[in-house]
Amino acid sequence: MAKSPAAVANNITLLLNAVLGQDRFSRGPVDVEAVAREYSRQIAPDGFIEDIIRTDLDGCEGVLVPGDSRPRKWAIMYDAKQSPGRRAYTVAHEFGHFMLHRQMVDEDADFSGGFHCSKDAIERGVGRNIEKEADEFAASLLMPLDDFRRHLPSERLATIERLGEAATRYGVSLTAAALRWIGYTNARAILISSTDGFAHWAVPTRAAYRTGRFMRTRNELYEMPSASLAARDISPKEALLGVRQNAGVWFPEAVYEMCMKTDRYGFELTLLHFEGNGPSFQSEGDDPEDAYDRFARER
Ligand SMILES: [Zn+2]
Repeated sequence: MAKSPAAVANNITLLLNAVLGQDRFSRGPVDVEAVAREYSRQIAPDGFIEDIIRTDLDGCEGVLVPGDSRPRKWAIMYDAKQSPGRRAYTVAHEFGHFMLHRQMVDEDADFSGGFHCSKDAIERGVGRNIEKEADEFAASLLMPLDDFRRHLPSERLATIERLGEAATRYGVSLTAAALRWIGYTNARAILISSTDGFAHWAVPTRAAYRTGRFMRTRNELYEMPSASLAARDISPKEALLGVRQNAGVWFPEAVYEMCMKTDRYGFELTLLHFEGNGPSFQSEGDDPEDAYDRFARER
């Protein structure tokens, strides 16, 4: 069986730990462009990543393209409009396609022109399975789980401020750091991205999902509650501190809500924390683990 994306990324993590030391993140994030160039040259001396190019891409955030020469050389291109944190994640995602999928360029006509990835594919692995794999690779490479857990233990409450510190440590966007935490924490929480009062997506933790706390945003326009911080006219500072919302505002139980509002990025990120373990919930006849994976995949 092929190695999992996390295992492929972990080989690189171990190498970086050996070369730069276990405490390397206290000195700065992964230099993903240097790693992509040097590591690809080591594992594929005839067909490595030769160029990483900042350019204007229309309709996608990043691409991995094969050159015409044989043996093939490769290039990663990323859209110039991204913030530095988003850019690092985009380059890591395309490096993931190189590590995991590059042979598809010769085997599958759909990919003869390389891999062209949308914002949703890069941010959350939406689309074909290979997008989820490249996303998992990028998250594992830039935010190794053992280091992340040491900073934000799974039992500990993650505030938006603490997730912002993690984003700085790993050189990624707040969204990427928050999604990484959502993926491993034992807490019951939901992360929501919205613009102008409507949610684009909402991702629950496993524990939240198991207690029936999730929202469907895939095919429906989900309007944020009028009492939510994202919808209310309050200062970014107040929104970051958060408020306790009574039962009925979001769900039939009270939640603690925090929100990152900024005009700069044109969206709000909301974090909901539920108290205690909550009611038990099982969707009919389903193993809740399978149901969660399916929900996360289809969302
Ligand atoms: Zn992709």
